[in-house]
Amino acid sequence: MSERELHCDICGSIQRFEVPPCVDGHGADCPERACTGCGAAIMMVVSIAPRRSTRRRAAVHHRAA
Ligand SMILES: [Zn+2]
Ligand SMILES: [Zn+2]
Repeated sequence: MSERELHCDICGSIQRFEVPPCVDGHGADCPERACTGCGAAIMMVVSIAPRRSTRRRAAVHHRAA
């Protein structure tokens, strides 16, 4: 299933989006979708925020007593 119905801001309505011919080599994982109504391409950005490697501040226990 490479088609999805999404809201197109340009059409202002729900349109069917399909995967356009991928030129970036994404293959089946291509995040691009093109509106079949107006042809606008969008990126299906799945919000997989890269985990911020927040280094935990090591608690400092070097208090001089
Ligand atoms: Zn692509
Ligand atoms: Zn559209």
